[in-house]
Amino acid sequence: MANPLYDNLFGRHAGQTAPFLHLANGAVVSYDAFLRMTARYAHALRGAGLVPGDRLAAQVEKSPEALAVYAACVQAGIVFLPLNTGYTGDELGYFVGDSGAKVLLCDGAKAGALQGVADRAGAVLMTLNGDGTGTLPEAAEGLNESFETAPREPDDLAAFLYTSGTTGRSKGAMLTQRNLLSNAEVLVDYWRFSSDDVLLHALPIFHTHGLFVATNIILLAGGSMIFLPKFDQDQVIAQLPRATSMMGVPTFYTRLLDDPRFTSALVAHMRLFTSGSAPLLAETHVAFEERTGHRILERYGMTETNMNTSNPYEGARRAGTVGFPLPGVELKITDPQTGAEVPHGEIGIIEVRGPNVFAGYWNMPEKTAEELRADGFFITGDLGMIDDQGYVQIVGRNKDLIISGGYNIYPKEIELLLDDQPGVLESAVVGVPHPDFGETVVGFLVPQKGAVVDIDAIAGAAAKSLARFKHPRKLIVLEELPRNTMGKVQKNILRAEYAGLFAPA
Ligand code: ATP
Ligand code: MG
Repeated sequence: MANPLYDNLFGRHAGQTAPFLHLANGAVVSYDAFLRMTARYAHALRGAGLVPGDRLAAQVEKSPEALAVYAACVQAGIVFLPLNTGYTGDELGYFVGDSGAKVLLCDGAKAGALQGVADRAGAVLMTLNGDGTGTLPEAAEGLNESFETAPREPDDLAAFLYTSGTTGRSKGAMLTQRNLLSNAEVLVDYWRFSSDDVLLHALPIFHTHGLFVATNIILLAGGSMIFLPKFDQDQVIAQLPRATSMMGVPTFYTRLLDDPRFTSALVAHMRLFTSGSAPLLAETHVAFEERTGHRILERYGMTETNMNTSNPYEGARRAGTVGFPLPGVELKITDPQTGAEVPHGEIGIIEVRGPNVFAGYWNMPEKTAEELRADGFFITGDLGMIDDQGYVQIVGRNKDLIISGGYNIYPKEIELLLDDQPGVLESAVVGVPHPDFGETVVGFLVPQKGAVVDIDAIAGAAAKSLARFKHPRKLIVLEELPRNTMGKVQKNILRAEYAGLFAPA
């Protein structure tokens, strides 16, 4: 019996000496070397008592070894659970306990701090360092470099990925072999990946974007990756001449545009830049094209569904949109109250159905039943609309919708206006409790470098073009917006911090 995910992503490269990873120091890891390390880790994990279906939680720095742990889990049928390297011991304790992971794998330097966490959660602590040391490699030392791949069905779980926690407590999304493989297959084709591709990979590998989009695509296509520990501007500039493609979050692109070394000559040879995880400002899209001649391809996905939509590879990439539903993905916009589909041009909740849609939230049957309809459509919680040409636009999150005096207010409409004001780099609009209106609008502005923003003039401009109930009651200047590692604006932090703004004295 087969293991479709292992066979297609990894097994097919057995014995190949072609490069898989190019490291910042110039070292190369071939497919063959990577698969031998994978097989040894698979033996060691089996030796640690993990059987198919068990969970392994890993909070490890990005390295070839860390990636081989993912591969070893797939090969041994273990459910891989990558965790944000920024999580504290308490947070880890929750994830390890909630998931029932049998092993917690961490960097050697954290072993002392995390032993208690593992003990309390009833998990075995193992360590892994990027230099090939740690208790997992030790256990793998001398072990056979061929491992009998565990058979798996397409509906078997391959990974648990906790959502980013932007709108509340992170939820464990259960992802099947089919989810991951179908998405990689569609994207290789849609974005024309081949064994000639060298992907500049500067994303973390504990999210969908860096692990299941970028890495799985390259594995399926048989290409290679320039595998950087993180987005380091000097390293990225130095490596771009060797790359054919890059996947990024919007902040990668704004940071590159701020760098005078980032010229059209540096990237003239490249074939593809993609962006996702957070909205790419139309302004960034335009500035990037003016500087380099390349149009960034924006796409939309989430932990629960991998990728849902993408701008076209050949056709027009429309700034401010996330393109069309990917082949095999059905997408509709529905009324938040009735659940009925709304016509093109109207805003509603984005729902998606397809082989990419997850199997449910771990340990949350009620939440799963609420968001995963019986007919297979997943209620994403994102607001969006489909424009006259079929491009999907994201309008924000349903949870960020402001209801003031009975009116629905979409923060994005106000943000677009604020972003256009002189001296404004970016903005965020949230609803803050108000004694008369339930909630009211508050705008946060980040000035461009060295610019001073004229709050009164901006308030005046907003008053002129927006209906009265949408006027920001208060505009607050911030040095930067609170963001998580993927560049997502954390509106819940703004809401919590300013919750008392209009509280009666
Ligand atoms: P949580 O579900 O725990 O609140 P999260 O939704 O931020 O966290 P992720 O699954 O990492 O966790 O992020 C998916 C979300 O990111 C999408 O639902 C969407 O809101 C946003 N997103 C992804 N790509 C884009 C994009 N191109 N434009 C706008 N938003 C995007
Ligand atoms: Mg979410």
